[in-house]
Amino acid sequence: MTKLVIATGNQNKAKEYREMLPTELGVDVATLKDLENVPDIIENGTTFAQNARIKATTIMEHFNLLVLADDSGLMVEALNGEPGVHSARYAGDHDDKANREKLLNKLNDVSNRSATFHTTIYAIKPDGNVLEVAGEVKGQIVEAPRGSEAFGYDCLFQPDGESRTFGEMTGEEKDAISHRGRAMRKFLESFDQWWQN
Ligand code: IMP
Repeated sequence: MTKLVIATGNQNKAKEYREMLPTELGVDVATLKDLENVPDIIENGTTFAQNARIKATTIMEHFNLLVLADDSGLMVEALNGEPGVHSARYAGDHDDKANREKLLNKLNDVSNRSATFHTTIYAIKPDGNVLEVAGEVKGQIVEAPRGSEAFGYDCLFQPDGESRTFGEMTGEEKDAISHRGRAMRKFLESFDQWWQN
């Protein structure tokens, strides 16, 4: 069975991908936590697409395996797109609680709370062939956390047309409308043809 490496150590992202990848795809999914001697990834791009490419190519060149990388984040309109590519390290390194507090403080007394979640998926085969797709969802930053605080900004983001935040939804409900779910469905639409060529 072909091994597909999800180039992330983020267990929340990995869980979402494992749940969204259908078994019929016929791939054996691993993440960076399952591999040894993982090289350092220097994520110094200025766009989601650049960072996704850096993650995917670093891991593919090291292990010579099929790799899927995702770079994602939250862009808040009133903050000129912040935290954007810095979403994971907005206040502290992968400190989700501190990141959320910083965001809420910056939006104190700000009435425009519109925001967009973005994901770029960049997949690369050992022969260098690339499949790149993106997904976005628009919504509002709520005044105070609601629901599970397990993953990033989920408890602060209420998608437009919904009365609950991502943190209040089941995994399936979130995947149906999320940035990652949208990107993943585009990826799956093209995967077979891309993989066989
Ligand atoms: P990355 O691992 O460099 O792509 O960083 C992504 C960061 O964006 C995460 O650490 C979260 O803070 C945030 N993020 C991305 N996608 C989501 C999501 O689906 N829910 C909540 N936060 C997310």
